[in-house]
This record gives sequence, C-alpha cells and structure tokens, in this order.
Amino acid sequence: MQSLANVSANGGIALGGKVVCDGFLSNAAVRVQTHIHADHMTDFESSKGFQTILMSEPTKDLLVVELNAELAYRSNVIAIPTGQLYEIEGCRIELLPSGHMLGSTQVSVTLPDGSRVAYSGDFNWPLNEVIRTDVLVVDSTYGSPDRARRYSQSEVNDRLIELVLRQLGQGAVHIKAHRGTLERALEVLDGATQVPIIATPKLCKEVDVYRKFGYQIRPLLDISSEDARHYLTEGQYLRLYGIGEGDLFGLENGTAINLSAFMASSTDPVLELSPRAFSVAMTCHADFDGTLRYIEATGAQHVITDNYRGGHAVELAIAVRSQLGIDAAPSQSRPGRYWGE
Ligand SMILES: [Zn+2]
Ligand SMILES: [Zn+2]
Repeated sequence: MQSLANVSANGGIALGGKVVCDGFLSNAAVRVQTHIHADHMTDFESSKGFQTILMSEPTKDLLVVELNAELAYRSNVIAIPTGQLYEIEGCRIELLPSGHMLGSTQVSVTLPDGSRVAYSGDFNWPLNEVIRTDVLVVDSTYGSPDRARRYSQSEVNDRLIELVLRQLGQGAVHIKAHRGTLERALEVLDGATQVPIIATPKLCKEVDVYRKFGYQIRPLLDISSEDARHYLTEGQYLRLYGIGEGDLFGLENGTAINLSAFMASSTDPVLELSPRAFSVAMTCHADFDGTLRYIEATGAQHVITDNYRGGHAVELAIAVRSQLGIDAAPSQSRPGRYWGE
C-alpha cells in the first residue's frame, strides 16, 4: 500500500503519483496545503515555483498574513471552496474541514481507476464530515494509548475561564499557544472578560482573518499602539503570544498560562507549575480514542500512520491492527524535527 500513498523523507504525503500534501515532491503536479502549522510547511517555497498549490480559502488568507501579500496574486496558489472538487490529469481532489484550526482540511484523491487515497491532515474529533477512502495516511500526534484524555474540551474551556478570571484579580495574564489553539481560547474567553487583549501587530492581523471567517473575537490591541502602552502600565490585561513570540518563563509580573495538551495529565487539564505559572490542556488534536474513531469512520482498509510528525506512529499502527482489525503500518519516513503542531 505504501506504493499508493506514503510519507516522503521530507514529510510530504504522497497520494497516488500526482498529488503531495504538506511537502514538495518533484514528480507531483499538485501540492495540497492542509493548514499553516510549521510541521506541514516544509519546502513551501519550492512548491511555489514548481507546483499548483491547493488549499482552503481561510488557509490562503492566513498564509498571506504569515508569508507575504504576493501570495494572494499568484495564479498557481488556488483556494478551493469546501466541497468543490478539483480535477487534474484524471485525479479528483476533495478537501473537507478537519476541525483542527481555521482552514485545516482532510484531503481525498480519487485516482483515474476509481480507487481512493486520503490524508487526514491534523484533525480533531468528533467531526461533522469524514472523508471516505480505501487507503488512509493518518496523523499520529496523539496515537498512543497514554494520550487518551478523561475530560472533554468543554470542561477544559470552563477551567480556563475560571483560571484566567481568578488570576486577572492579581494583574496581567499572559497566554501562549500554537496558532489556532490561541484563537479558540480567545473565543472562549471573549464573553467571560472585558479586559483589553494585547498582541503583536502580526497576531492582530491573524485574528482579523479568524473574525472574517466567523470567530467571535473582539479586535485586539496592537502592542505598539498608544492605547496598549497605557493598559500595559495599568496591570489588568490579557497578553497573547504565538509560538516564537517570546518566552513566558521569567515574567516580572502577572501569570503565565501555556495552552498545550503535551505534558498534561490524563485526568486533570490544569497543571500548576507555580502560583504564577500554569499549563492548560487545550488542544486541537483528537486524542487516542478519537483517532481510532476517525480511522473507523473513513472506511479505510489500509492505514499508514505518519511517522514523520508526532512520534506515535508505531504504537498507533499496532492499535489500529489489534483494536480495529484494519491493516496498518507506520510510514517508512524517519521522524522529522517538528512535534505535533
Ligand atoms: Zn501537525
Ligand atoms: Zn497542526
């Protein structure tokens, strides 16, 4: 099955001979960009020069903010509406939302002989719509039984609100998360507090894209603005950090909250590191059980677990075989340098 679909050495997911997702392969006419996280952006510049690049409309807008405005005008970078098919050389490509972050998609390719190969992309669970396929390459970020979570994300939301409101009583609250997770947290917090929310100009622009696509988030304050400087001296505000936008350790005042399910316990979503530092298990990935339910729902008869990202490909393949009775193997690619974004 690894001849029909596989993960290449640089992390690109090959679906049939003509399509690659989230990486560059010189023989593929099309690259599908499932979402904007760094572990899926490898060799994007090479693809820009040589391939047709397909993505959802929100992903294109987010990439224009992230990379440069020039991307908006390139004829080989194509945003396709949800549910619309794209045909090339006898292959039909379809993108469906994957619930992981704004714009993220699952990808299915129907080959000229009618057989179907697909890539889950990073996904959340449950989902309204799941791709149906014969062969599936699946993300393995939480593909280990010890990555099961005994609490729901709505419980996590409630605990986050409770924690933020409590800590705001003592001054500023600084929140850091991966893109997508941060905006989900903002939506959760937006109705709960009226304090100003301060972020870098780039993050402000990014949040504008989320708002354009329906997220209920009030406009953020640009940290370089006069208003923001005023609030920064007042003490009660939320300050947001994307990954790569500074370190929360060693803050002089206020509370640091890191949103990540990576170190979290399976029973309690809030981890207190000190009275002023917390980790909250907010994530946009399905957990172990959700991953198995997703695989079942695709109807796949052959599963390839992505060994480039996430680090649980072998355990997941074993579980798919033993618990679902579906043929499964890890991709032959070696682990990449990114983990689980
Ligand atoms: Zn990822
Ligand atoms: Zn991701």
